Amino acid sequence: MKDELDEIAALAADLHALLEDVALRGRLSETVPTPEELRALQPESAPGSGRGAPTKIPQRQGWADLASAARERVDAVSESLEQVRQDLGDCQRCRLCSGRKQIVFGVGDPNADLVICGEAPGYDDDQQGEPYVGPAGEMLDKMLQHVLGLQRGQVYLLNVVKCRPPKDRNPEPGEVATCLPYLERQLQSIQPKALLVLGPVALQALFGDRHQLSHARGSWLTYNGIPTLPTYHPEHLLRQPQDKRLTFQDLKDLRMRYDAVGGKR
Ligand code: URA
Repeated sequence: MKDELDEIAALAADLHALLEDVALRGRLSETVPTPEELRALQPESAPGSGRGAPTKIPQRQGWADLASAARERVDAVSESLEQVRQDLGDCQRCRLCSGRKQIVFGVGDPNADLVICGEAPGYDDDQQGEPYVGPAGEMLDKMLQHVLGLQRGQVYLLNVVKCRPPKDRNPEPGEVATCLPYLERQLQSIQPKALLVLGPVALQALFGDRHQLSHARGSWLTYNGIPTLPTYHPEHLLRQPQDKRLTFQDLKDLRMRYDAVGGKR
């Protein structure tokens, strides 16, 4: 029974990913149960194991589900960014703490209508305590100014993980799972009207590893109720400038939507 429900949940996740874009215009997906709804139908496997406890997570459901056990601890009541930062403290919850200079929590307008989410701080970000300050940051600033018509201080910039991974490797699933609840609390506090997700690592951290950036970029998804657009990472654009054209299209679409929902200027 549980295997069948897992299978149905996986199929529903695929179907949802396809319908997300359509749903924004036609709300067709209201007839399709979400993977969360299907998962909620699963019988408890062991007494005392809460929803999403590690022993119950089917292999295929990826990082976002790994995080659900930690998310259980998250207080749903709205809180300020300062409170979230205070709770993070001098975080030692995963091994990334040993290699960092400092925690890179995020920067920008705490009431921003647009949040931009990358994967993890790099060298320059770790040194300065601010996301996107190296060459990728310069590229991001240009994208913001020239296509979205926004300055860095008008949005909120953050990453899935708050500490620089050694040698700038990708964050590992356990590190993502540990940090993801803090990202969710940041979003809960800011309550943006749109979320821009940069690159495949952040995309998979939020939506699971079945989502490929090559398919997902430019299509609207929903993350915890927030309209979310995945696109290329500025570091990718520095290496592959031919993809700037597609990114430009994505950002134009974001600008239209941002303005349509009354995003602050
Ligand atoms: N700097 C960040 O803050 N995030 C990234 O994903 C890359 C560089």
